[in-house]
Formats: sequence, C-alpha cells, structure tokens
Amino acid sequence: MLSYDDRLAVAVSGGKDSLSLLHILAKIKRFRPKTTLFAVTVDEGIEGYRNEALEIAAANCEQLEIPHHVVSFKELYGYTLDEIVLRARGKGETELTACAYCGVLRRKAINAGARQMHANKVATAHTLDDEVQTAVMNIFRGDIARLSKEKPITSEVHPLLVQKIKPFCEIPEKESALYAYVKKIKFQDTPCPYASEALRNDIRGMINMIEQKHAGTKFTIFKAMERLRPALEETTKKEKFRTCGECNEPSALDLCKACELLRHVR
Ligand code: SF4
Repeated sequence: MLSYDDRLAVAVSGGKDSLSLLHILAKIKRFRPKTTLFAVTVDEGIEGYRNEALEIAAANCEQLEIPHHVVSFKELYGYTLDEIVLRARGKGETELTACAYCGVLRRKAINAGARQMHANKVATAHTLDDEVQTAVMNIFRGDIARLSKEKPITSEVHPLLVQKIKPFCEIPEKESALYAYVKKIKFQDTPCPYASEALRNDIRGMINMIEQKHAGTKFTIFKAMERLRPALEETTKKEKFRTCGECNEPSALDLCKACELLRHVR
C-alpha cells in the first residue's frame, strides 16, 4: 500500500482507530525520510461532539509533529451536518438518516482535504470490522456495484480523486483499540449523537453475535469478499467518470451524489 516517497494524508477523526493508524504510520515514516505525512480531519459540524475530536486530533498531531489540516462541511457545502439534518427533517426528507448525508459528504470532504495538501494517497482507518459491516450492508441494499468497488486499495483513476488505502483492513477493531490503550494514545470515546440511527449499528451487533459463537467469521467474510471481487468487477459495468454539473468534481452521473443530497436541503 505504501511507497517510499508517498505524500500521504491520514484521515483522522479523533477516534481510537484513526489515531492508532496515525501513530503507526508516524513510526513507519521515521524509517522512510522521503515520505511526507499529514493528517486531515473533517469537521462535519456536529454540536457537542466534533469540537472535542478536533482538539484531540490536533493534540496528537502536535505530539507527533505532523501537520494537521481541517476541512469543514460549512466551508465546503455551506451547511453543517446539524443544519443539513434540521433542514432535511423540516422538508420531510425523513427517510434519510444523518449518516446517509454524512457518509457521502465526508468522503468528498476527505478527498478535497487530501487534494488541498497535494497528497498522492489517503489512508483511512477502516478496520476488519468496518470492511465486513460494509460488505454485508451492501448485500442488504443489493448494491453490487459498491460491493465490488469497496476494496483495500481503490482503483478509481481520475486526476481529481486521491487514491485511498486501508492499512487496517485485516485488523480487528479490538486490536486497534488495544493498541491505543497500550500506547496510551488519547482518543475521543464519546459516540457521535447520530450513530444510533445507522443501519450499520444493527449489522455490527448481528456480526459480533455470530463472531462470538463462531470465532473467525469476520476473517472468513473478508477473505470471501477478496475472492469474489474480481468476478463481481467483471459483471458490474465500469463507471465512466464525467464531471458533476454543479461542483465540477468527478461523478458517475451528471450530478454527483453529494450535490444531489444537498439539493434536498437547499
Ligand atoms: Fe457521520 Fe453517522 Fe459517523 Fe456520526 S455516526 S460521524 S453522522 S457517519
């Protein structure tokens, strides 16, 4: 995943996984003088939650002497996530959860932040648990195209899309948490106030219950996905990138998903 001369952005939320990843990559960087490392944090604008995370992320970056770059929803999209949720609910767009907006807008924001810092790669702290949950969620939604696209190293090639890598994709969440505790890394442990709304929560509970009874299930699902993906890629239509009519960012359709969602709330 890593090359000796990468300009690597690490997406740091302030939680245990992203901070464990940042500390490990900082350690690796000491042996790779040509690698440039910096952290990118997205400020979604979640009252009573994100400010603490921003402070913790900044303190860790200062300790590791890593530049810290913050991109905010307000700056990029004109609204905080709290405002988006209020406006969507006010307009009766209640079928979409806060996470449905946040996931799409945050992905775009991380890419924008990494690009502003001229990164050639962006590392996210998706763990084995996240990867398995995402695969199962995509099956539940019948989203085969996304099932084939979600992989440890993205292959989407576009000058405006920074390549994404997931160095923790085979690391169970418990181990990344253990690393943070053993290394005494300060992280935010308050959950996001919107987290309980997510379908992911139900899927996490279900997979953890099966894992408890049948140890190794998470690895089995992950490995099965790795083997299935080439066949899925063959059968799903390759997306041709065009430019979003509103934001000029790469998009599979004339309007990108982020701009489509934002239209609901304007
Ligand atoms: Fe965004 Fe949902 Fe995660 Fe909160 S739980 S940060 S709303 S994706």
